[in-house]
Amino acid sequence: TDGLYAEKTTKSAQLHLEASKWIPGGVTANIKYFDPHPIVMKSASGAYLTDVDHNQYIDYNLCYGALIMGHGHPRVTTAIQEQLAQMGTTIFGTPHQLETEMARVLVDLYPGIETVRFCNSGLESTLLAIRLATAWTGRKKLAKFEGHYHGGYDQVLISVNPSLRNPEDPPAPQLDSRGIPDYYAENTIVLPFNDLEQTAAILKKYRNEIAAVMMEPIQGGYIPPDLSFLRGLRELTQQYRILLIFDEVKTGFRVGLSGAQGRYGVTPDITALGKVLGGGFPVGAVGGKKEIMEMCSPSGGADILTPGSLRPSPGYTNILFHSGTYNGHPTALSAGLATIQALQEPGAYHQLEEHTRKLRSGIEEILDRYGVAGQTVGVGSIFNMVMTDHPVHQVQDVLRSDVVMRKKLDFSLINEGIYMKPLNRFSLSVAHTPDVIMETLERFENGVKKVSKK
Ligand code: PMP
Repeated sequence: TDGLYAEKTTKSAQLHLEASKWIPGGVTANIKYFDPHPIVMKSASGAYLTDVDHNQYIDYNLCYGALIMGHGHPRVTTAIQEQLAQMGTTIFGTPHQLETEMARVLVDLYPGIETVRFCNSGLESTLLAIRLATAWTGRKKLAKFEGHYHGGYDQVLISVNPSLRNPEDPPAPQLDSRGIPDYYAENTIVLPFNDLEQTAAILKKYRNEIAAVMMEPIQGGYIPPDLSFLRGLRELTQQYRILLIFDEVKTGFRVGLSGAQGRYGVTPDITALGKVLGGGFPVGAVGGKKEIMEMCSPSGGADILTPGSLRPSPGYTNILFHSGTYNGHPTALSAGLATIQALQEPGAYHQLEEHTRKLRSGIEEILDRYGVAGQTVGVGSIFNMVMTDHPVHQVQDVLRSDVVMRKKLDFSLINEGIYMKPLNRFSLSVAHTPDVIMETLERFENGVKKVSKK
């Protein structure tokens, strides 16, 4: 990084040093860290963030895509305040009506959801999804895609950040963290995204051992699936009685009210949701076919089980454990419902996507004009900037791009007042109005000027 970043963020540096005395690395989630120190924010409004050094940024991180309404949208903040006042407490610790209300909304909107359970994060939702699939099929292997993130736990911290490989070779499982038992590498099958031929060959080989294929239907929320790939995968999984899990933590309510499954017309057996669903509060949800979900019921689902195309594993009469002190938190659900109601208004997604298109084409035009090789890759209101002229279909293409240039550009953009986590995606919110987009493009051009050779 250049000296300017250090100069502009001296208080952040100081606070990060202080935090590091008491918190490993000074951050409570590794993703919040970047060299030489992350920026400590102090306040936010609409599309803008202000840091402790009084720098103002247009926020394109939006809490990793969660804040589709922007910061402090009155519809969301009012809903929370009214909910708290009406309850007289923060949480009951018993069932309450918002749970049913939100469940009905999700069942109504998501083709793959017949019944639903709530939890507190995206991680928890994919974890439960896998447990359901393992119990339902009686098989123990999970198949996941190279480069796909599903949360920070043992079973899925595999090949999220893979190394470069020969495209002819299938991906081999790589552990993304210390402390993960070999068991998980041995029982996780890694598939190449958007490569139906290789995927089909691997699934065929392990067809009797795989409980589920879990995937981000849009990789990282930004690399779209080829429709024939997604449809082919749905057919193959059905043929082998493997459950298909869509991790829609990022894409749910982001690429449309019915997520990626609505956008592409491919319905999974189990869906995991999070992020936007909580309107800025910690939340997760898992939904799916009723007979599968019913395994979580205190009855173990014994009363509703009917023979169908999917059969539970032998000996399944035990209840599938799912619990959590804060599951279905009323504040999170009220913020989520207010968010969904706002998104249901006519034209909400159309506008978001129109603004994103303007921003993306502006970015590409500027990169082009200054001779910087790069493109935007995205779906709906999320995109990434990948510094390559080659097509981007999966993580290996991103690994082959000019990451050094991207990082240099990111710091230049941050210095100009465009905030995104270096190397991360851009998300937009309803607060990113045409004026904000124009201002972004001016800042963007200034940022590019400083790193281009032209
Ligand atoms: N799945 C996907 C697709 C995600 O993007 C994320 C978060 N980035 C998660 C799961 C994990 O969600 P959380 O951070 O809420 O645990």
